[in-house]
Amino acid sequence: MFNQESETQSLIDITNQFKNYFLSDTSESIDAYKKTIAEVSDAIAKQIQSQTQPYIGKSPAELNKLIQSINLLPQEGKSISEVLKQTEQLIIESNISVYHPHCLAHLHCPTFIASLAAEMILSAFNQSMDSWDQAPAATMIEQALCDELCRFYGFDSHADATFTGGGTMSNFMGLLLARDHYSDKQYNWNIQQKGLPPESGKFRIICAENAHFTVAQSASILGLGQQAIVKIKDQTLAESEQALEQTILELKEEGLIPIAYVTTAGTTDFGSLGNIENLSHTCQKYGIWLHVDAAFGGALMFSNKHKHKLEGIEKADSVTIDFHKLFYQPISCGVFIVKNKKSFDYIKLHADYLNPESNASLGILDLVYKSIQTTRRFDALKPFIALQHIGLANFEKMIDYTISLAEEVSAIIDSDNSFELAYQTPINAVVFRFMPDKETDPITIDYINNTIKTNLLLSGKAIIGQTYFKNKAYLKFTLLNPMTQVSEVVTLLQEIKEMGNTLLLNYPSAN
Ligand SMILES: *Cc1c(COP(=O)(O)O)cnc(C)c1O
Repeated sequence: MFNQESETQSLIDITNQFKNYFLSDTSESIDAYKKTIAEVSDAIAKQIQSQTQPYIGKSPAELNKLIQSINLLPQEGKSISEVLKQTEQLIIESNISVYHPHCLAHLHCPTFIASLAAEMILSAFNQSMDSWDQAPAATMIEQALCDELCRFYGFDSHADATFTGGGTMSNFMGLLLARDHYSDKQYNWNIQQKGLPPESGKFRIICAENAHFTVAQSASILGLGQQAIVKIKDQTLAESEQALEQTILELKEEGLIPIAYVTTAGTTDFGSLGNIENLSHTCQKYGIWLHVDAAFGGALMFSNKHKHKLEGIEKADSVTIDFHKLFYQPISCGVFIVKNKKSFDYIKLHADYLNPESNASLGILDLVYKSIQTTRRFDALKPFIALQHIGLANFEKMIDYTISLAEEVSAIIDSDNSFELAYQTPINAVVFRFMPDKETDPITIDYINNTIKTNLLLSGKAIIGQTYFKNKAYLKFTLLNPMTQVSEVVTLLQEIKEMGNTLLLNYPSAN
């Protein structure tokens, strides 16, 4: 016979057991949560306090061996303490420390403690930004922050913004809207409905040689192909309105159709910037979309001393800003601004289950219409909490400090005969190379510089960048960390010099 009572009881036991895995109102669940978080924060604190180099120096083979020793799909689970111990050995101990002064390769930032608190809140409550009924207060905060950011960057009330997963997605959105806007205005052709117009094979997107690779990636995903990317090669002229105008005219002469120009406010490698104001006039004159990729440089707006470098940004049709770079937010956190909020209509869709049109009349805002994501993290909470805690004044000091740090380090490199500075960048990047004398042949110098970078990484002593400038190998420091002192960078330069000299002595045998 079916025993309903015992059956019901066993189901209750099972769901009670689940309660230990989730946050719930039982004291067991709350205790498990608090204990887990305490263990995690202890493990993190221990690591941060004991980490002496940016990387422990494990080789790919060693890491692989550790991972191989784990059953990734276990039938039965083990205690969270055991799992955390395993995670400590596997991941926490082998992190690249963004807090270490010798971690300075990429736009890879230390994070504000305030934003780590925000991460806990946003994942614990797991609000999803696609619809108001999954995130009421979160939706309003994200929208308010977007409105405020539009104003802060100088846009009027026609502008709007959305949070994105970062610069890649923001650049993609900028070019998506540029493409769809052009087809709509020029050919009355709705790409969302009809796909690409017949003329699209001739669409061209202009950018400088050193624009971020995601510009070309976007063109290919947008169905325009990488053939659509026209790069202005001359680095010194690249971001000038003369070069832009000349390129537009040349393309038109060939029967091609320039639809957009992407200028980079702070290139990833060199931090260089064009004059946005002047470029915007040229774009307006020829009716092409101006997208400003300010993933790196956008933070300059927070500095009274440096914001002039972004002059004219409010004339852009769209802007990319990354909060997980110079804004010290945990990954991921980016913003995409568009000058005319109607442009979001090009990607707008309605799903009856998610954002019915009737919601608008109730004052309910479903942010899904502004995003190419559906389920989306409440990343806006991170800058919201961080700004409340740190304030603009201190934030400005950090930006100014890191730029003056880069200037000081550049000056030190420039005055040292063992080094050559590529050039003085206008932002936090320092591009240089070990170059003890002019006699050593260029191939040897390239080899030595590349080897320095690799040796530092594999030993875990320092994570530095590498790039090519005028076809020569260079090293790069990206000085984002406002806690880093000049003397700490000088120690690293000393190490690089010693390594370089040793490599130089041994070069013939190494070859
Ligand atoms: C980092 C960066 C990107 C890509 O952004 P993600 O946040 O990494 O997706 C695009 N453009 C520039 C100039 C960047 O520095």
